[in-house]
Amino acid sequence: MLPFPNFAYEAPDRLEDALAIAAAPGTRIVAGGTDLLPSIKHRLFTPATLLSLRRLEELATITETADGGLAIGAMATLRAIRRSPLVLERYPALAEACRTIGTGTIQAMGTLGGNVMLDTRCLFYNQPAGWRASIGGCLKAEGNICHVAPKGKGCYAAHSADSIPSLWLYGASIELASPSGTRQVTIADLYDEDGRTWVKTQPGEILTRILLPAPSAPVVHRKLRLRNAIDYGMLLVAVQRDGVGARAVLSAIGPQPILVQVAAAGDLAEASYKAAKPLGTHAIASVWRKQMVRVEVKRALAAL
Ligand SMILES: Cc1cc2nc3c(=O)[nH]c(=O)nc-3n(C[C@H](O)[C@H](O)[C@H](O)COP(=O)(O)OP(=O)(O)OC[C@H]3O[C@@H](n4cnc5c(N)ncnc54)[C@H](O)[C@@H]3O)c2cc1C
Ligand code: SF4
Repeated sequence: MLPFPNFAYEAPDRLEDALAIAAAPGTRIVAGGTDLLPSIKHRLFTPATLLSLRRLEELATITETADGGLAIGAMATLRAIRRSPLVLERYPALAEACRTIGTGTIQAMGTLGGNVMLDTRCLFYNQPAGWRASIGGCLKAEGNICHVAPKGKGCYAAHSADSIPSLWLYGASIELASPSGTRQVTIADLYDEDGRTWVKTQPGEILTRILLPAPSAPVVHRKLRLRNAIDYGMLLVAVQRDGVGARAVLSAIGPQPILVQVAAAGDLAEASYKAAKPLGTHAIASVWRKQMVRVEVKRALAAL
């Protein structure tokens, strides 16, 4: 069993106390811990203080908003979301995305906030410290070369959070709180093009709510993975019709989810295939994953 390094642990029951702790250097926020705690054991993060949000009950609610949308607290669990009658009725693709994350126990602990903020993933990075040391680390941790693209200066670790393609097409935003106030960022603007920095939030900001406007058009979510349980997606696709046109958000193929938009729905699968450039961050061949973009987009359109 891999031991934890030493760190201080705080679990305040008032948001203003949490914001003060989050602002201190060396603090890392933990929600359900399903991704962060294994990463700490792998020494990918060595926080001075772990700030748990589990006692902030106001962050775990799912409520209707005045405009016919929903406000989902960052600490709402994946299980609560996939079972929520409001989510099932208005945003079924989000419920479906949560249903296919990890396992039932992970969905019981893991939160939507943690999913939105999820670190990017790579075959050469999500490994125990000894494994990484054996290859000299990489640009994202402890090293000075990328094993996926050795001539490149960037990191291509894949954005792999299942909720994001459907949240993007539903027009979702997030609310971020800090001691100086709150601000909103759309899901479409949230992610960075480098897998080392992945999310454009400021240090110390706490994600408090995910805001969904009233649904405009149906969305279909599809996930391609090795086994139909536990595994992360090697390709995530969400699709929406837009009048005679259509749009897709593709993820798990690069550091940022990407939007593909076409004027005629019949062109969406080919345009998505051309836009997708998966690299060797996954154990499965990139060539096949690219081919599957076309297939999965066609399947999603057929399901729509
Ligand atoms: C076996 C296994 C399989 C998995 N499969 C999948 C999968 O198929 N798809 C998938 O998307 N995920 C998968 N996961 C990852 C994870 O379980 C989910 O992404 C989950 O939603 C993460 O939520 P959490 O609350 O546990 O986040 P945590 O692990 O607590 O945190 C994740 C990250 O978000 C940050 N964070 C969390 N909450 C906040 C907040 N409110 N404000 C600011 N920062 C915050 C943390 O600092 C951390 O960097 C899997 C994990 C395991 C162990
Ligand atoms: S893409 Fe390259 S730099 Fe990024 S985690 Fe993988 S090997 Fe490391």
